[in-house]
Amino acid sequence: MAKRITVVVSQGQSANPLKRKLEEDLVGALIGEAGIEVTVIPHLYDLTADGTGMLCLQGITGDMIVLGWLFPRAAHWTLDRNAIRGQVGETLLGGDDDEEDDEAEPPEEKDRVVDQREMPSRKIYCLDLRWHENAEPYLEEIRRIAAEAATQTVDLMSFISGSPKPEQLDRYLNPASGNGNGKPKPLAPADTPIDNQDAPSRRWYPVIDFSRCTNCMECIDFCLFGVYGVDKSDTILVEMPDDCRKGCPACSRICPESAIIFPQHKTPGIAGSPEAVGGVKIDLSKLFGAPEEDSKKTAAAERDEQLLLVGRDAVGLGVGMPKRQANRPQGPRDELDGLMDELDELDV
Ligand code: SF4
Ligand code: SF4
Repeated sequence: MAKRITVVVSQGQSANPLKRKLEEDLVGALIGEAGIEVTVIPHLYDLTADGTGMLCLQGITGDMIVLGWLFPRAAHWTLDRNAIRGQVGETLLGGDDDEEDDEAEPPEEKDRVVDQREMPSRKIYCLDLRWHENAEPYLEEIRRIAAEAATQTVDLMSFISGSPKPEQLDRYLNPASGNGNGKPKPLAPADTPIDNQDAPSRRWYPVIDFSRCTNCMECIDFCLFGVYGVDKSDTILVEMPDDCRKGCPACSRICPESAIIFPQHKTPGIAGSPEAVGGVKIDLSKLFGAPEEDSKKTAAAERDEQLLLVGRDAVGLGVGMPKRQANRPQGPRDELDGLMDELDELDV
């Protein structure tokens, strides 16, 4: 089998002509290039877990380069939540947000969820299409990665002839209808101008960065909409993503590790910018526009707003607020933490 690396182009959500042009330039330049397989999908974040786009991505088993309109960290963990896993591939490309701060302290030593997981050795390189306006820097980086890390991949048809469920196969062969009744329309590779008329509707849900998450469960306590759950090994997961309230990023403000990402939020720290990577350089006032205590109040206010919108009572700071100081023996605990612990002990 020839050595190949797969390049995935995740389309923008809008029909912005500049975005379309960049996507088309990339696909046009890469199609037919030796050792590179190109796949075009709708916006990664909008893909549903059992849709054809995700099925396509799950069929790629080798190294992969993902180009999309979102921060690399957001792209990586959006893939991860859909069982598309791999090591973070290091890229030489980047934008202003990726400049490293040599003075940043090393990450605090903590058990992270990622430490408990087996991770495949293949690499996933995520590149943000907002870094550059033209295709050349991306093409140069893709060729560099392909030369360095070209990997055997199982092509999609090999996967299809493997053991997909009948309904998955049907959806792959007939994606136009969404349920298998439409005209066959291969998802990849793309060799025609890109249009996104069949783009899925926009979604809004939290994505957990497990390289930061400590499984502290603050988010599950805080969210009153049943979005979070736990898996068989009692690890936090986003169980009901589409129950999240559109536009609300409240729980990202209360996560002690800044592990919760809303890739479409306008604030970079919430959308997964590198500023929040590593658990160290967390200046909440910079990331969220409010000091830490204010960020709790902001989160509570945002949650109340959503509760009221669905006809429920506001709860303010009285329910599910983080008990961060429980993990900081050297620091003073606040009154609210004490009250919360007493309530926990009463099991009410
Ligand atoms: S609050 Fe943050 S660190 Fe804690 S379980 Fe949720 S995502 Fe993980
Ligand atoms: S943003 Fe609000 S509704 Fe969505 S998961 Fe977080 S707390 Fe729950």
